[in-house]
Amino acid sequence: MSARVLVVDDIATNVKLLETKLAAEYFDVVTAMNGRDAIAICEQGLCDIVLLDVMMPDLDGFEVCRLLKTSPVTAHMPVVMVTALDQPSDRLKGLDAGADDFLTKPVDDVALFARVRSLVRLKAVTDELRARLLGSRALGLADPLVAAATETGQNASVLLVDDRASSYERLASALSQYHRVEVEPNPSLAMIRAAEGDFDVVLVSLDLQDFDGLRLCSQLRSLERTRHAAVILIADMDDRARVLRGLDIGAHDFLVRPVDRNELVARVRTQVRRRRFAERLRDGVQISMDAAVTDGLTGLHNRRYLDVHLATLFDAASRRGAPLALLLLDIDRFKSINDTWGHEAGDDVLREFAVRVRGMTRNVDLVARYGGEEVVVVIPDATAEEARFVAERIRERIGGTPFEIHRRSRRIDVTVSIGVAGRERQDESSAEMVKRADQALYRAKETGRNRVMSQAA
Ligand code: GH3
Ligand code: MG
Ligand code: MG
Repeated sequence: MSARVLVVDDIATNVKLLETKLAAEYFDVVTAMNGRDAIAICEQGLCDIVLLDVMMPDLDGFEVCRLLKTSPVTAHMPVVMVTALDQPSDRLKGLDAGADDFLTKPVDDVALFARVRSLVRLKAVTDELRARLLGSRALGLADPLVAAATETGQNASVLLVDDRASSYERLASALSQYHRVEVEPNPSLAMIRAAEGDFDVVLVSLDLQDFDGLRLCSQLRSLERTRHAAVILIADMDDRARVLRGLDIGAHDFLVRPVDRNELVARVRTQVRRRRFAERLRDGVQISMDAAVTDGLTGLHNRRYLDVHLATLFDAASRRGAPLALLLLDIDRFKSINDTWGHEAGDDVLREFAVRVRGMTRNVDLVARYGGEEVVVVIPDATAEEARFVAERIRERIGGTPFEIHRRSRRIDVTVSIGVAGRERQDESSAEMVKRADQALYRAKETGRNRVMSQAA
């Protein structure tokens, strides 16, 4: 996978060194010699990941990282701190600033490429989701990027898979201060628990008795129900090869024994933040997809949805030779409701109208707002005669009980006219059904309203 890597270091030879290594692996490299330039490059979206030197004059690496991670524009950008000294305190400061990972100078090639690849892969997914979401900003969704920048990453549920009591007791007690922690020493049961519980993070020990933790890691990553959980490996110092393999098959991070409590807490928090960020994006995309096919006022399907699905239902019925019926409903003298009681009252009537129609139909029926005060009901497997009964019941349900308007302080009578049509053998498309229903509706209006009319046979 190719990606644009931003290398930030105030010393030219350090920049050159990383640039050469990365270019040899076919990464595109962008460089900056100070923090301000680095931030500008990130803000313009000119890179996919940042390798950030800690020690720089003016803005140091921690400060740059903090600025990137607290701005909604750049919070999603993966940041890897490159530290000269392998000091736990440096790592902690970096994690606190929101860094996603660390590399120690001199930089180890294998670790470098594994880290960059795994973070870039993650970013590709979030970028895709962001792009879809930003396209639907107009829908007024709360900006998930702003929310992500303020996410604390606490109160998560964590599953710890480790079979050594001395180890898991220590880890669990450190994490319990901030999260709900469950321990499962048996890896087979762990998989079941992971699939049943909704865990944000699963920590997997790589030195389980008689079981390869990587297998669990790969199962977690491939099962639909657990795929979104962040997986963190816990490995011994000399188990680097398996850690790299684990990152390759989708683990998000790793810790090396003896595990530093603060680093554990910080790494889990980073994963929780990232997971919640991705989740929010996914929810947002779902909402915007729903919004694209839903009418905002009534909550019924909209015309776009109707057009697609009516055609599908029509084709399926034609193929099977099954009946299909369609009702076209139009509120009587709706304009005068608006004129007399106000547009807001008109909206109330439309909403309540939708609720009542929905209440008189089944889940398999398609109910959609067709136009201003017109609603279409499509009834699969019903003939025009059968649909007439449904229409008659709806008509009574509308006309029989007054509608409340003006914050329920007033009740007004509303009636509806309905045209009914059924699929005919010679129909080539649903448009012909709609046309007959429209003609029937016209006759219902013409002959006095508040009535049901069927298509001319
Ligand atoms: P008829 O009995 O012949 O159907 O008369 P009508 O007044 O119901 O029909 P007409 O088509 O003349 O008027 C429909 C009105 O519906 C006009 C339009 O302003 C109003 N309308 C359309 N959409 C909305 C809406 O979302 N909210 C409100 N309050 N009014 C709407
Ligand atoms: Mg009308
Ligand atoms: Mg109308």
